[in-house]
Amino acid sequence: MTAEWNREDLARLLALEDFSEIYAQADEVQRREKRDVVQIRAILEFSNCCRRRCRYCGLNAENPRVTRYRMSVQEMKEAAAEALEAGYRTIVLQSGEDPGFPAEDIGEVIRFIKQKGAAVTVSCGEWPSEVYAYWRDCGADRYLLKQETADPALYGSLHPCGTLAERVGCLRELKRLGYETGSGFMIGLPGQTLDTIAQDLLLLAEIPCDMAGIGPFLPHPDTPLRDCPEGGSELTMRAVALARLLLPQCNLPATTSLGVLSGGARRSVFSCGANVIMRKVTPEPYKSYYEIYPANLGRTEVRRERAELEDWIRSMGKTPV
Ligand code: SF4
Repeated sequence: MTAEWNREDLARLLALEDFSEIYAQADEVQRREKRDVVQIRAILEFSNCCRRRCRYCGLNAENPRVTRYRMSVQEMKEAAAEALEAGYRTIVLQSGEDPGFPAEDIGEVIRFIKQKGAAVTVSCGEWPSEVYAYWRDCGADRYLLKQETADPALYGSLHPCGTLAERVGCLRELKRLGYETGSGFMIGLPGQTLDTIAQDLLLLAEIPCDMAGIGPFLPHPDTPLRDCPEGGSELTMRAVALARLLLPQCNLPATTSLGVLSGGARRSVFSCGANVIMRKVTPEPYKSYYEIYPANLGRTEVRRERAELEDWIRSMGKTPV
């Protein structure tokens, strides 16, 4: 049924007055494919330096108000070890697109985490194939590189440093190298339509992605998009539900940005297809400097936060891993 959906079908579904049947189907597929398990993953944001100028992002290279940092390899290992001791089984190594951070240092941390028996996701932007291949050789299992939008013109207007074709080329190369490949997009970007979101969903299926982070656009005050309205949580959850139906096996996180929106939306998103949640384990003071969008994040307390998250997931009748 779902494999036959085209752009028009998806745009029409996104606009339905009553979406409850699609949510119920997505929940059923999530239970069947993921057995009510919610994976908890740790994000370690090791550098907020970035050469790009994405117009929605607080870390863009032209924002002089950011306190820039790079963690040392030792700091990264210590933070990763603390997360593993707290029970995490996947560490996401995330940074801006930072040419000043040696690929070999990232490789060393990947090997360190792999030696401890955990999975590694890398999320560091666009690099030549040789760099991706090197990190894969070091043991990286997954790579996360969001498409942000599948509309080439909209992509171009938001990303003065690259094209959609280059981004999709990287995603295809990551697949070729054997990575579990994650992408994703934002809901509510200025100029986006339901047809754009339909294109986004179809691109996820075409690559095909093993993971997709779908979250609302949140305007950052230090960016050119500061006055644009934020994306909606309802439309975001609709897109997540359709992604679950299009890609039954895909890992779909309840994105941090969705959690930032009022109403505690993540409780609902787990009943409409999402099966992953990420939690920052970036130590102070770096965590507060890593601000792609505004978020009031408390102090990092890795063990306590992990335990609370597990309790919360169990309270929904699901199993945290
Ligand atoms: S979205 Fe990523 S690549 Fe773009 S400016 Fe922000 S950190 Fe850099």
